[in-house]
Amino acid sequence: MENKVDELVTSLKGVGSGTAKALEELGIITLENLVMTFPYRHEDFRLKNLAETAHNERVTVEGRVESEPSLLFLGKNKSRLQVRLLAGQHLIKAVFFNQAYLKSKITPGSVITVTGKWDRGRQVINVSTFSAGPKTDQQDFEPVYSLKGSISQKIFRRFMRQALDELKGYIMDPLPESIRSAYKLPEIVEALEGIHFPQDANHSKNARRRFVYEELLNFQLKMQAIKKVRKEQNVGNSIAFDNDRLKILIESLPYELTDAQKRVVNEICRDLKEPHRMNRLLQGDVGSGKTVVAAICLYAIITAGYQGALMAPTEILAEQHAASLDAWLAPLGVRIALLTGSTKQKARRIVLENLAEGNIDLLIGTHALIQPEVSFKKLGLVITDEQHRFGVEQRKVLKEKGENPDVLFMTATPIPRTLAITAFGEMDVSIIDQMPAGRKSIDTHWMKEDQLPKLISRLKKELANGRQAYIICPLIEESEKLDVQNAVDVYNMMSYELGKDYTVGLMHGRLHSDEKDEVMREFTDGNIHVLVSTTVVEVGVNVPNASFMIIFDAERFGLAQLHQLRGRVGRGEHQSYCILLADPKTEEGKERMMSMTETNDGFVLAEKDLELRGPGDFFGKKQSGLPEFKIADLVHDYRALNTAKIDAERLLESEHFWKSDEMEGLRNTLINSKALDGERIN
Ligand code: ADP
Ligand code: MG
Repeated sequence: MENKVDELVTSLKGVGSGTAKALEELGIITLENLVMTFPYRHEDFRLKNLAETAHNERVTVEGRVESEPSLLFLGKNKSRLQVRLLAGQHLIKAVFFNQAYLKSKITPGSVITVTGKWDRGRQVINVSTFSAGPKTDQQDFEPVYSLKGSISQKIFRRFMRQALDELKGYIMDPLPESIRSAYKLPEIVEALEGIHFPQDANHSKNARRRFVYEELLNFQLKMQAIKKVRKEQNVGNSIAFDNDRLKILIESLPYELTDAQKRVVNEICRDLKEPHRMNRLLQGDVGSGKTVVAAICLYAIITAGYQGALMAPTEILAEQHAASLDAWLAPLGVRIALLTGSTKQKARRIVLENLAEGNIDLLIGTHALIQPEVSFKKLGLVITDEQHRFGVEQRKVLKEKGENPDVLFMTATPIPRTLAITAFGEMDVSIIDQMPAGRKSIDTHWMKEDQLPKLISRLKKELANGRQAYIICPLIEESEKLDVQNAVDVYNMMSYELGKDYTVGLMHGRLHSDEKDEVMREFTDGNIHVLVSTTVVEVGVNVPNASFMIIFDAERFGLAQLHQLRGRVGRGEHQSYCILLADPKTEEGKERMMSMTETNDGFVLAEKDLELRGPGDFFGKKQSGLPEFKIADLVHDYRALNTAKIDAERLLESEHFWKSDEMEGLRNTLINSKALDGERIN
């Protein structure tokens, strides 16, 4: 007989072709598909004491009927049935809406069991489930599935029960005994029973623990396998750079590197030397000094005769990078060129020629770097700044320009550890977790909008001292038009308040990119004193003289974004301030504002953001890059994730994993899974 788990659902009683079709819509074709469809919660039918039940909580009680049921018709098909119950010490009312037919089943003096929402103030249970008699030894927990179409919970549960009974003894456990016993995880049949029809809370908890671990282990096996295969197969350049020249650069810098910078430079340089292709993510909070790290690594490969590329998401940023790197590297003989969308035809042709001939060592620019006509002579290292701004495709194209160049992605979005090892599980990660010495933390306050007048006088004082300020306008989801309108309104208000003595600038998404650049340049040069802007100003610009920021409607922003925005100030020697104008309506919103005033540490905020809003929102809507987990939850299961990662690494290195029978299940899952780019793993 063929494998029982692969039998079609039509083998179940009551599943005809119509039902089979409805099940197929849920992705359920075989019995195995069915039992692996987990409920998203359980209805709790355990008896509870009303004294311990909160208002509006669902509760199940047994009670003696103390009155004749009274029935009231409220119009077409609408009725209210009501009866007094003595439940333990509590004399309460049970109310049944539109269940008139129950009247005959409720007789005074008998005991009934009801489940429903508890109205504590009125001492009423609004009944949804009823049975005559005391509570039976029915299941205390009833699974609730995510269903659609014509299939009811009740029928689905029946199919599930039948499938589980039939599969007993036929299901092979993919998780080997040695692993299960190490973590005291239930075997598959027991776990399936516990995830669908648990006997008690423990049963359900252990079942969940098992499936979470199994899911994360399979995921990590895949990620670690990809990483390993890429390392072994992606033969890269073994770059023999000149250590002495590197030291000269580091000594010539205007400051001493922080320990964290030194550490990541070492990590990266070690990778450059190895004969495999580097695929590394460099995370460092805003202002932690990633640019200089990039410069050092680029210089390293240049000393070995390679060319480097540094790609930034905006022209301004590309120009700032070019200026910084030029100051550090040109004195050492490095030939640097800038290539952006606004590079003129002729200059562009010259750059391209020189690049192809190897007369340029380092090309800095925007997307312009990845156009087809750009070709390098010997590209060794590609660095992209603020990597989350680039599409996967763009990164790939650039990567393919050279002969297996090493690749470094830099991001200022602090990514919580759990997300980093999931979203970037196949990459190596370096973290700069330390700020340069002497950096003042940004003094952050949360105020209501009615304090604006006071705030504006405070702002004037700052401007009178020669400082500059950002004013960030409310964010209106999905509507750039309204964002612009808001920015214009705020701009008008600020011009009215400050225009007599200061220049106010306006920046928003509807401006052309050269207009944006122009405004930004004026601000950088100090000709604009106050910049009113939407969030377009978010990305890494550096105006050290700006020391004051006001963020309107701050509750509309996520913590990660607020932190990014705030990072525009506090970049120079001046004490900086960030004022959040917000009137959050939710507890979560209030907590976000509090967190901002309490810490300047991006990683702490990132963890908080993850906790408050969940992983789905973390990277914004589209490019989440996060896998969808069926049961694991990245916020709460992070310990399991870490364990799974360590186990996966260890397993992949072991003979036992690749040879033994007990590992066959895990091995097959790994071998059959598709890698990130759709390629087979082995
Ligand atoms: P980010 O990581 O946000 O890209 P930058 O590279 O722009 O940060 O650096 C922020 C500022 O800190 C720059 O003005 C830079 O010159 C300065 N900086 C970087 N490293 C150090 C250091 N080790 N000591 C002092 N200042 C530093
Ligand atoms: Mg930067």
